[in-house]
Amino acid sequence: MRIFELLTDDVETINRDWLEDNRLVLISYIGEQQEFPMRRDFAYTHQNDDGSLSIVFSPQIKEASEERMVGLIRHELAHALFLLEGEEDHSEQDADDLAEEVFGTPIRYDRMNVQTIGSGVTPRPKHLPK
Ligand SMILES: [Zn+2]
Repeated sequence: MRIFELLTDDVETINRDWLEDNRLVLISYIGEQQEFPMRRDFAYTHQNDDGSLSIVFSPQIKEASEERMVGLIRHELAHALFLLEGEEDHSEQDADDLAEEVFGTPIRYDRMNVQTIGSGVTPRPKHLPK
């Protein structure tokens, strides 16, 4: 599936170019629709009980544009990097800032307020969750 190809490319970039003494390993899968109640909910990242990290995508990710997929992936990967470093206490804007630092491309928000590397607004709109 395209989403996992794109994710794999970006995880490789992180492990090759960004991390020095650490390594990002993820368990990623498509979750159940009921985990994503809002229309703009496409993905979330969480740390499992054993410390491993997961990025879970909504079933609707399959219909997303590639630019939206990459924006979502990079935002979630930044959350994963914070969690990898034990920094649970970070904001949504922190995730966007780190994603831009790692990948050199700003995270923007499209007409549905979803992350994208295509056209949209940056920084993150103020009315969205912090
Ligand atoms: Zn987020």
